[in-house]
Amino acid sequence: MADFHDVVIVGGGVIGLSAAYALGHAGLKALVLDQREPGREASWAGAGMIAPEAETPSASPMVRLRARSARLYPLWADQLREETGIDIGYRKCGGVDVAFTEAEDAELRAAAGVWRSQGVAHERLAPADRARIEPALNPEAESVYFLPDRAQVRNPRLIRALIDAIANRGGRVQAGGAVRGFSMEKGRAVAVMSSAGRFACGVVVVAAGAWSGPLLEPLGTRAPTPPNKGQIVLLRGDRPLLRRIVEHGGNYLVPRDDGRILVGATEENAGFDRLPTERSYHVLIREARQLCPVLRETEVELVWAGLRPGSVDSRPYLGMVPGSSNVVIATGHNRAGLQLAPATAEVVVDLVLGRSPRVDVRALGPDREPVRDTDSAAFRS
Ligand SMILES: Cc1cc2nc3c(=O)[nH]c(=O)nc-3n(C[C@H](O)[C@H](O)[C@H](O)COP(=O)(O)OP(=O)(O)OC[C@H]3O[C@@H](n4cnc5c(N)ncnc54)[C@H](O)[C@@H]3O)c2cc1C
Repeated sequence: MADFHDVVIVGGGVIGLSAAYALGHAGLKALVLDQREPGREASWAGAGMIAPEAETPSASPMVRLRARSARLYPLWADQLREETGIDIGYRKCGGVDVAFTEAEDAELRAAAGVWRSQGVAHERLAPADRARIEPALNPEAESVYFLPDRAQVRNPRLIRALIDAIANRGGRVQAGGAVRGFSMEKGRAVAVMSSAGRFACGVVVVAAGAWSGPLLEPLGTRAPTPPNKGQIVLLRGDRPLLRRIVEHGGNYLVPRDDGRILVGATEENAGFDRLPTERSYHVLIREARQLCPVLRETEVELVWAGLRPGSVDSRPYLGMVPGSSNVVIATGHNRAGLQLAPATAEVVVDLVLGRSPRVDVRALGPDREPVRDTDSAAFRS
């Protein structure tokens, strides 16, 4: 059949593109359909922080996905550079977590307990050592923890590299077609219906970010993906002012190699509105200057917002859609989709090929009851 695709992926964000890339390495050609320009939603808007590797084996799927992704990122960076010539800007720049009050310090001590149990390298810095690790840090901080393995990626470059690499292996990424539903026969999706046409397929992967939930309702699956709006301010200095990622509660600073600094991020329940607001802008600027007073010397270059895909709890949906034999769901990664993309992609490949996934994701299926995820609480990105 001329128009048959091994796998059709709905959504060309980092999750859909990473899955298509990994499928290409497994010898399967995927067609990725996006209603807009691929990679321009949450995956473009994100800050690109990658959580450090956890050395201690864990049964928690979130810890395992995070640890696996941390291990895969440098390999993907090398592989993508070889395959496309694009440097995705993966860099183990290290990070510092900062507290300004006793209550915040207590939270960091609790987080340090989790890092210890997971085997994540960290060190509580004595005041005399802080300037050595991050000279720009406000000296009035109550406590500072150093996580040497925190990393970052330039997500817009990652997106470009993935799109090129998918095409190099015979896959296709198609913009401008909104998927409206699936043609089902006896519990199997036989085609994906979009505004750009009908695409017969062997397997469907739903990775449509904050827009995923309603797509699955006709299949009787409850997987709400409420948008969690996040705003970022991009600062530009005339010289590099910051070396490490700086985190304070849900806020952070991410220094790029070119001297730019991302200040993130808000969490707002604003429906599908992704316009930046003046109020959030001021909150972020104030926070940046408190964390690192030297940032008063910078100029604002850009402000943007994106919609993180939420879920019923703080964890993604990853698994087979119940009642179907060939529909996979991979979405709802909320604040961690960039860091979890490579490991998520590996699991998708396993599910598509009918193998038992490398990470046991049974607890991440749709239709689940919300779970409070203490394993992820120590990583806020
Ligand atoms: C401000 C901010 C900062 C962040 N920082 C980090 C960070 O530092 N580290 C980290 O790991 N994560 C971070 N995130 C989260 C991360 O960006 C997301 O978890 C991740 O991008 C989700 O990827 P996705 O592919 O699921 O969704 P998206 O990138 O939103 O992609 C979904 C795609 O599906 C398409 N689509 C939707 N509906 C349809 C349809 N019906 N038909 C066809 N296509 C459709 C959309 O057009 C879109 O391109 C951040 C997010 C924000 C907003």
